[in-house]
Amino acid sequence: MSGSIHSSSSSDASSTEIERPLSLVDPTTPIHSREKVSFSELCCWDDCPHRWYIDYLLGPRIKTFGVDLFFGDSVHSALEQTLRRTGSVSPTAAAEYFESRFSGQMRENRLSLERPISDDDLNDLVHAGRRICERARDIFEIKEFVGGEVVFNELKLVEPIARADGRSYTFKGFVDIGMKVPKKRGKGSLLWVLDFKTCGWGWPWQRKADVSKHRQLFLYKHFLCRKHGLDPRDVRCGFVLLKKRPRPLTRGSLELESPFELVTVGAGPNPITRAVEHLSTRITGMCSGLHPKNRSSCKKVFGSFTSTCPHLGTERCPEID
Ligand code: SF4
Repeated sequence: MSGSIHSSSSSDASSTEIERPLSLVDPTTPIHSREKVSFSELCCWDDCPHRWYIDYLLGPRIKTFGVDLFFGDSVHSALEQTLRRTGSVSPTAAAEYFESRFSGQMRENRLSLERPISDDDLNDLVHAGRRICERARDIFEIKEFVGGEVVFNELKLVEPIARADGRSYTFKGFVDIGMKVPKKRGKGSLLWVLDFKTCGWGWPWQRKADVSKHRQLFLYKHFLCRKHGLDPRDVRCGFVLLKKRPRPLTRGSLELESPFELVTVGAGPNPITRAVEHLSTRITGMCSGLHPKNRSSCKKVFGSFTSTCPHLGTERCPEID
């Protein structure tokens, strides 16, 4: 690798259904002036520019809480304690940490969850989270990571975005984990830039192929390489799935497969260029003072559950325009 890192530690807006033509807003309406743009902010804009306008410009941001949010936060934090370059705790201690953090969050927030959860389901989640933490070392059994070592986790990126219009913006993000692995051929090593994603049994192929998800890793790789002078050819990207319900090792077996799966993402120069251009055009949109409503995002159906935008039917976004 030509540089070094020292640390210890849905779709395009253009392809979504925009219900109404763009309309100019009151000129006194604030335009984008936040200067820092995160990947979640970019996703919010892509989902519904009007929701982005309410959440990020008018504020305060309304957050909806699902149990998965707390579960993911607790598992990520626990793994961060045990998968680290120095001072890592044992997987058992990480499992204890997970349970204590997750149970505390549930005690505080259970009544404000978007969707109620039964005691049985909650217990299943505690077991699932503990299993992921207790088997944390399984991550090194993924063939791409054999012989590897964690070189950073929760790495903060705050990097300037190059813009032709002279506006000054920075991209802000946190890379979950970086893994350095010796190259299988030749000298030197590869750096894997990884993002943890909690899931049930795994991801269907459609999700694995979703470019709007890959964009997060493309942007991380782009800014990381630029910041640390890394050769992009030596940097790989992927999502590490953290499975709540890993499958049995063999049919009928009580032993379960690893709760970790690597989903590799081909991050060559072309997709990275497109992701950076996407970011830049969305910032131009955010600065335009136009924030159309995307009515196809007001309600989203996930199986038997419908997630409703918290602004639907409020003064800021009446149901009828
Ligand atoms: S209710 Fe619909 S149109 Fe209004 S902000 Fe939410 S997603 Fe956008």
